[in-house]
Amino acid sequence: MLNLRREFSIVLVSLVMFFIMGVVAHAQTVRQIVMIDPAHGGTDTGVIGVDKVAEKDLTLAIALAVKKELSGDPRFEIVLTREADKTISLEERRNLVLKTKPALFLSLHVNAGFGRNASGFELYYPGFKNVDLPQSPAKQGVTDLKTRHLNETVKLARLVRQNLDILFPRKGRGLREADVPQLEGLNTPALIVEIGFATNPDEKRKLTNGKTQTEIARALARSIKTYF
Ligand SMILES: [Zn+2]
Repeated sequence: MLNLRREFSIVLVSLVMFFIMGVVAHAQTVRQIVMIDPAHGGTDTGVIGVDKVAEKDLTLAIALAVKKELSGDPRFEIVLTREADKTISLEERRNLVLKTKPALFLSLHVNAGFGRNASGFELYYPGFKNVDLPQSPAKQGVTDLKTRHLNETVKLARLVRQNLDILFPRKGRGLREADVPQLEGLNTPALIVEIGFATNPDEKRKLTNGKTQTEIARALARSIKTYF
């Protein structure tokens, strides 16, 4: 009797172990898809800064560096909206998001204007302004679903701000709401990062420097890792 009970225990423990191993293996194989969008490209140069540096080239260089930073991490699959200097419309970017269904969408831009002294990164997200507030408590669940990805975006924005502040001390210009046409109607957590000003000679130097590009990519990669 005693032996039977012992054998039963061994079988039970084995089953539990097998189950745990299965769960762990599953977690390791399911990768989070992170979509990085180097804005502009091809005939769309984006802003032109000091020494005629084009936004499209800076966003691509930094996006490729982010991909490199995260490619060794088995938790992520990194998809770029473009990996070369080619023209992609907002419609095409939207179709890519629909097809890929990323867990996170990060669009990279470079700023310009407001004189040569304007500096610092800016963060934009689709914002809560287009979300209908619930008319009745019964509709609260629907609103929660509509706002969940926005709350997630705010969480990511905080991390990006912390990590970019190291590179551009006290120069962050906050989190603002903006329309993101390529994501309209989609519930994807999405953040637009205007990394710095190409029209500011000092920031242009940083944005075109390979070493600083790697540091910016590391700051963004660190934010993504902490977010998940
Ligand atoms: Zn842009």
